Amino acid sequence: MTTNPTLVVSHADVERLLPMSSCIDVMADALAATSRGDALLPLRQVLRVGGGRSAFAVMPAVLGGQHGPAAIGAKVITVFPRNDATPYDSHIGVVLYFDDVHGRLLAIIDASSVTAIRTAAVSGLATRLLANANASRLAILGAGVQAMTHLEAMLAVRPISEVRIWSRGAERCASFSRWALKRFGLTVQLCESAEQAVRDAHVICTVTASREPVVRGEWLAPGVHINAVGASMPTSRELDTRAVVQSRLFVDRRESALNEAGDFLIPRQEGAITDAHILAELGDLVLDPSPGRVSDSDRTLFKSLGVAVEDVAAARFIYERARAEQSGTWIALGGLRPIDESQGDL
Ligand code: NDP
Repeated sequence: MTTNPTLVVSHADVERLLPMSSCIDVMADALAATSRGDALLPLRQVLRVGGGRSAFAVMPAVLGGQHGPAAIGAKVITVFPRNDATPYDSHIGVVLYFDDVHGRLLAIIDASSVTAIRTAAVSGLATRLLANANASRLAILGAGVQAMTHLEAMLAVRPISEVRIWSRGAERCASFSRWALKRFGLTVQLCESAEQAVRDAHVICTVTASREPVVRGEWLAPGVHINAVGASMPTSRELDTRAVVQSRLFVDRRESALNEAGDFLIPRQEGAITDAHILAELGDLVLDPSPGRVSDSDRTLFKSLGVAVEDVAAARFIYERARAEQSGTWIALGGLRPIDESQGDL
């Protein structure tokens, strides 16, 4: 009997099937393919809901296809920042993954976990490519879901021995600190201000839902590497103008940054920088690292927006692993025509 099963992957299964260190390599391959032109990646469609504070986004992509099979997929996700006061994630949805032979729906995958892991993995890749090799002092601003996966990603790529955290809510920081001790045996320093956290840090991850700068350029030490992750609208930013002007700037996708990144667009609107301030995409650096860090004292900045090829690449990896292990839940949704005996096997 012919069947047409679709794999359903839960939050817990994604965490098991997509380890951070593997995901960093998967992101490197996906972003390099995108920068080579081997991907179809339109800008995401974002519908503002809840008076503009929340969003419903559809993010399609086709990865590869020029020299081998293509991975076809889309993330469909809500972003409700005010969920941080509830038991719900601020990012909820699914990643859909299709085959490129018959267009079959191969997998439906929890998007909260994919987003948490792949975003941090891309920051891990940026840090691997751009931070000084001996960077050991990490500051994280924001203490939510991304803070946790970012700690794991930074530990995977640099010899981090000192971790500082700042967020507005003291209890949230304390809870992060308890988690880090249990998970990694690390003592995290709780900071009373963002300035205290980032002064003389070697690596900074900004993972807040703030719309206004939480980092000022005057606080940044020479040699620092920053992953600016939290702001993803043209009108929001986590870094002030000076922080961006004085840094060598890299992005996940140039077209996305030019349309969506307030961290870049607001300084440009002020006349402080031009489009030429974006030196390269991360995928360009995977292919040729030379435009990256030039000297130990450079300040480097990776502006992350998150792009759909990351979700599709993660989905492909998860699907292939689950299939190899024969794990996960398989359901028959449809898409297979009933066989008409008189016409033979279609
Ligand atoms: P969470 O809701 O889990 O955490 C949000 C954090 O931001 C909390 O620590 C919250 O703490 C803090 N925060 C909220 N408002 C402010 C504010 N006005 N000023 C300073 N801190 C604030 O979200 P996630 O960890 O999942 O995501 C963090 C950010 O990253 C979000 O903005 C999200 O949209 C973005 N993101 C970006 C992705 C990318 O690919 N670039 C992918 C996924 C998420 P407290 O309220 O205590 O201050």
